[in-house]
Amino acid sequence: MEHILSLSYGKDSLACLGAIELMGWPLDRIVHAEVWATDTIPADLPPMVEFKARADEIIKARWGITVEHVRGPYTFEQGFYLLRGRTGIKSKFAGRIYGWPMQRGQWCLQQLKLPAIAKCARKNDNQYIGIAKDEPKRFKALSETKCSPLVEAGWTEAMCREWCEKNDLLSPIYTTSARGGCWFCHNQSVDQLRLLRRNYQEYWALMLKWDKDSPVTFHPDGHTVHDFDRRFALEDEGLIYPDEYFRWEMLESEMLNYRLF
Ligand code: SF4
Repeated sequence: MEHILSLSYGKDSLACLGAIELMGWPLDRIVHAEVWATDTIPADLPPMVEFKARADEIIKARWGITVEHVRGPYTFEQGFYLLRGRTGIKSKFAGRIYGWPMQRGQWCLQQLKLPAIAKCARKNDNQYIGIAKDEPKRFKALSETKCSPLVEAGWTEAMCREWCEKNDLLSPIYTTSARGGCWFCHNQSVDQLRLLRRNYQEYWALMLKWDKDSPVTFHPDGHTVHDFDRRFALEDEGLIYPDEYFRWEMLESEMLNYRLF
């Protein structure tokens, strides 16, 4: 049996290292389930990629453990273009590609994240997961083989953040507008999408390409990445103001003509 820390690089997850050290618990391996956008492009934005590399160096130097980055069987792009219905389960979508994940039963979690996590630990291994003492709603994830060093040490989320700051292990997602999670995520906020389009044009272009091929709209209300692209372009032209209350009807030509003249 091995003692494995499942690392997400969030503050609670990293602070587990401090709590494990404090309590003198054993730690054999540290594993991270990694998602890739394509074969060559990570799902993390560059500031997060840099942070992970730096954190890995600090961890290796202080704890002597090399963080294992484990990938699922597919990249996001490969999963996006997989045909549905390969499992033989009847579905009205059979024969079509997956496209953007739907809100219910998000395939990205099932096909990219969970298989990578499953590869990380064997059935009898003892897994450490980063759930803070003041997150009781998440306690249901704990079991005989999954425990939280933070709960045992009595560390709250605020204490985890403080520990990360002191140990130079605080991710940029807490201090800048950098996004945690995949840059192409359908669950991200409008502000994050706007920043992605502005700062990472090659990634935005890839999202537009995928969007064109997807049988599922980016958002469940029927709006596509192309809709967001039009909205942001109109903001750039000064025809829509980013800080005003937005309604999709504002993209209708009548309202825009009014503003134009
Ligand atoms: S961050 Fe979004 S796209 Fe990435 S695995 Fe999670 S739900 Fe899917």
